[in-house]
Amino acid sequence: MATDIDIKRENNRLNDSKKYQIIKERLQERGVDVKDIAEITYDLQKPYVPQITMELCLDHVDRVMMKREVQHAVLTGLELDILAEKKMISEPLASMLLGDYGLYGIDEIMALSIVNVYGTIGLTNFGYVDKLKPGIMKKLDDLGKKKGKCNTFLDDIVGAIAAAAASSIAHKFAN
Ligand code: MG
Repeated sequence: MATDIDIKRENNRLNDSKKYQIIKERLQERGVDVKDIAEITYDLQKPYVPQITMELCLDHVDRVMMKREVQHAVLTGLELDILAEKKMISEPLASMLLGDYGLYGIDEIMALSIVNVYGTIGLTNFGYVDKLKPGIMKKLDDLGKKKGKCNTFLDDIVGAIAAAAASSIAHKFAN
């Protein structure tokens, strides 16, 4: 029988592409497709990179999601949303998460761990989408307001991945 240590070793050994598959599936289970993320990236970079395509955006979203820091943030944030929905988080945190309390702020901090990988441009791109909540971000935000639903971390994570992918494209096409 596998011991806790065996399981721990096995999980650490899971390579980045395997974890990429896992987070892709987890996001899908929470109603987010990589295409939804790529659409935000497209709109962010279109003014600066006229030759941009959805394919390019999808490629950079994939690159972002292959990064370990990003995978860890996605796994942690999604887990907290799900635990809040299952009523497995104690007070006062439970009410803050289920109510998406505006001054909580840890969801944005977790999102920063994603965009940090791409420097200052990642930061400003994230600030922009966090305010505007384009596309899927608005949908997730609205859905999270329904009773018993929690998307407190998810909307920021999605925005951060999109912003990071936009920054990755910006770096590639910088002249
Ligand atoms: Mg949030």
